[in-house]
Amino acid sequence: MIHNCVIVGSGPAGYTAAIYAARANMAPVLYTGHEPGGQLMITTDVENFPGYPDGIMGPEMMADLRKQAERFDTKIVSDMITKVDFSGPVHKLWSESGEEIHAHSVIISTGASAKWLGLESEQKFMNIGVSACAVCDGFFFRGMEVAVVGGGDSAAEEASYLSKLCPKVHLLVRRDELRASKIMQERVIKAENIEIHWNTSTQEIFGTDEGVEGVRVINNITKETSEIPVKGFFVAIGHTPNTKIFDDWLDQDDTGYLKVTPGSTLTNREGVFASGDAQDRIYRQAITAAGTGCMAALDAERYLTEKGII
Ligand code: NDP
Repeated sequence: MIHNCVIVGSGPAGYTAAIYAARANMAPVLYTGHEPGGQLMITTDVENFPGYPDGIMGPEMMADLRKQAERFDTKIVSDMITKVDFSGPVHKLWSESGEEIHAHSVIISTGASAKWLGLESEQKFMNIGVSACAVCDGFFFRGMEVAVVGGGDSAAEEASYLSKLCPKVHLLVRRDELRASKIMQERVIKAENIEIHWNTSTQEIFGTDEGVEGVRVINNITKETSEIPVKGFFVAIGHTPNTKIFDDWLDQDDTGYLKVTPGSTLTNREGVFASGDAQDRIYRQAITAAGTGCMAALDAERYLTEKGII
């Protein structure tokens, strides 16, 4: 069987593509990947998605999007696409469970994943003190001191969130300024229990088999090292696009974001369309992801119509 349209990924881009493709009678099949719902599943309040004047919780919004996609007969498969072959007119995909899938068109919406510092101790204490998601793990550290690494909106958001649970949050910023938006910067600077350590990099996380006891940091200007006692260490230093499996087939920029023809979702392979964070290194918002998911479905529909497939 050759599907009209296979969608890879289940964030706002994937589900929006599914809603549009399903309503255009393309009978889309969506593969969710390992983390159904994508990055919004680890977000609390989404206050900037139009249509929710009081905000909405990320997981609730993703549940709604999924429901909306299913309402129009999208087939949703809980499996991970691990390999693709975009060489022929019919595209091939393989899933982790061993299924071989054939499709006339493919919409990629695989999103992006959190980056790590790359320290050995970060691995050692993973899930017993080290985390990339305050919303998921912050609760375990209530009443304890914690550190957050990063200077962007993610770090500011994580620090603000943790400041409501923890008596003290140390924000470790490698330069002398934050990259975060003005409003997020203000929130962090105003919070009495967030201490910003400027020009500070993490050298090592230390602790016992039970968990993290602290972090050794270095001041990048004075080269002085010091230790901060913390039980939780949250990494919020940005994201990497989930595009590795497309390396052999699709053009990417130097950091792995998929290249598309400007103003469209067309990749360098006919019938393969890219949407969401996998192709967006600049905006990376739920609303822009949803917008490009819509574009990808419309581009795929046009492609299938031109080929006389639907
Ligand atoms: P960013 O790329 O914006 O920021 C990454 C931060 O981590 C930078 O401050 C960077 O430092 C720092 N960093 C990178 N590598 C290291 C390292 N090895 N050691 C220490 N620090 C490091 O990523 P974000 O995830 O914060 O944000 C991504 C996008 O998502 C942005 O467009 C942001 O606006 C958006 N976003 C929006 C939110 C909202 O609106 N509520 C919430 C979260 C994200 P440096 O500045 O020195 O490069």
